[in-house]
Amino acid sequence: MSHHDERTFVMVKPDGVQRGLIGDIVARFEDRGLKMVGGKFMQIDEELAHEHYGEHEGKPFFDGLVDFITSGPVFAMVWEGADATRQVRQMMGETDPAESAPGTIRGDLGLDLGQNVIHGSDHEDEGANEREIELFFDEDELVEWDQTDAVWVYEDE
Ligand code: UDP
Repeated sequence: MSHHDERTFVMVKPDGVQRGLIGDIVARFEDRGLKMVGGKFMQIDEELAHEHYGEHEGKPFFDGLVDFITSGPVFAMVWEGADATRQVRQMMGETDPAESAPGTIRGDLGLDLGQNVIHGSDHEDEGANEREIELFFDEDELVEWDQTDAVWVYEDE
């Protein structure tokens, strides 16, 4: 894999879907030069919610988080590019939209910690990106393709 091939898992949460923000969010990653290699409109069930958010089990917000993430459809995606995991997290802003800078996704599109529009793999949690991709996607649901304008995104492409 070249250094442009890091993959990360991203998901528009139920509030973002209900508010019609899928297009806005996808456009931000496309505009940045990242490449979508997987996308799936789906409903998360109780079991998947527990697996995905297992690290938060037992915390006071856990039950509310599971209710929220299973409350309606999500748009799950895999995005690929140089340093993709960390770059997506930077574009997302802070966990709490109220603390997120304008220009970030949560800073532009949210106000409330419990309804913060988007999930992206944690770049500080080694391997979280690949684990989450595997949890949500089968390998044959990911598409390998040449992004023809990559030569205008990466100097050394
Ligand atoms: N969350 C919440 N209350 C809290 C902390 C977290 O509702 O006090 C929710 C919020 O939706 C957040 C998710 O739990 O996105 C996962 O928390 P994490 O700390 O992993 O934040 P993230 O990685 O999403 O920024």
